Amino acid sequence: MNISLIDKIAVPFNKPTVIGDEGKKIIEVIQSARFSSNQSVTKECEHWLQSHLRVPKAMVVNSCTAALEMAALLINIKENDEVIMPSFTFVSTANAFVLRGAKPVFVDIRPDTLNINENLIEMAITKKTRAIVPVHYAGTSCEMHKIIEIANSKKLWIIEDAAQAILTTYKNKYAGGLGHLGCLSFHETKNISCGEGGALLINDDRLIERAEIIRDKGTDRAKYLNGSVDRYQWVDVGSSFSPSELVSAFLYVQLQNAEYINQERKLLVKRYESQLEALGKTGKIKLPGVKLSKCGNGHIFYIFLKDKRTRAKLIEFMAQRNITSVFHYIPLHSSPAGRRFSASPDKFSVTNHVSDTILRLPIYFGMKEYEQRYVIDCIYDFFNEDR
Ligand SMILES: *Cc1c(COP(=O)(O)O)cnc(C)c1O
Repeated sequence: MNISLIDKIAVPFNKPTVIGDEGKKIIEVIQSARFSSNQSVTKECEHWLQSHLRVPKAMVVNSCTAALEMAALLINIKENDEVIMPSFTFVSTANAFVLRGAKPVFVDIRPDTLNINENLIEMAITKKTRAIVPVHYAGTSCEMHKIIEIANSKKLWIIEDAAQAILTTYKNKYAGGLGHLGCLSFHETKNISCGEGGALLINDDRLIERAEIIRDKGTDRAKYLNGSVDRYQWVDVGSSFSPSELVSAFLYVQLQNAEYINQERKLLVKRYESQLEALGKTGKIKLPGVKLSKCGNGHIFYIFLKDKRTRAKLIEFMAQRNITSVFHYIPLHSSPAGRRFSASPDKFSVTNHVSDTILRLPIYFGMKEYEQRYVIDCIYDFFNEDR
């Protein structure tokens, strides 16, 4: 590639998706003069989620964090309860339960999908265990068949952290629609976004009425609006979990284009897979243990380096060429709050190794072929390998 072009290219790690019609839909809401929560546009978003993800009830909320917090309230998580989850996840997965006084109990991940290792879950169950929280990392589903079997036999709740997994399928069902409750994120870094947003998917009919109350500040306003009570009042705990119609308008346009957005992202993942394959064969990098273009939704693409030092050098090498690449997570079990709130004695060898060697590459809706080629060339250059 010629030098003057290289000087002009900058590849960010992520760019929030913009379809183009979001502004028009927001103007419609402004003209309707109804801005607060749970009105027509939010309901349209919820209908979309219910019909496309085939779940009985979807509630649009302010974030996936909010959806997880609602889930913890809904299943009455109390002090000293234990909740099983991977350590390789975002803080909200644990925080939602810690806020209720519960203890997160961490379980190591599988080296292929980087999801919770279902074969280690039973060993982590005690008399205090109340729930399992599988996280569908990178939009690839956990082994839900086994997890559901365990939860049923031990009478535990399943709350899916499907923050990254919108429209991911698992045996003809959708992520978020497999457990009792599912939580989606519409944060700007996710496939479908509205800046900050999320959804709680409710697959257990017994939880729907109370979820409406918890979402609406602990009041039975939903019953008042449908005419079944003549005034609404404080009936339970709750908070303000709903977004404004202005936010839902942005989300509505993105949902209308969700399949298309995921399709485009999956093409990018596929291109990374095929063009990095040769470098993978030299052993200088390792590709994901599963084909993310097949089992995921195009949310993330990552590679593994030999060790932390090589990764730091590659990040620096790319940064000098205006490419941003990142790694995550600092495992929760080794972070300060994780050590304070959990007492998992395990060593989490897979989690630690993955966390030390993983590198996420730039991926975003609208990423140009030449931008992606530039990233791939840069990785080959770093290792002095020809493509
Ligand atoms: C993004 C993310 C969250 C948090 O989502 P917000 O909508 O920002 O609250 C939770 N869990 C996982 C696994 C995530 O990737």
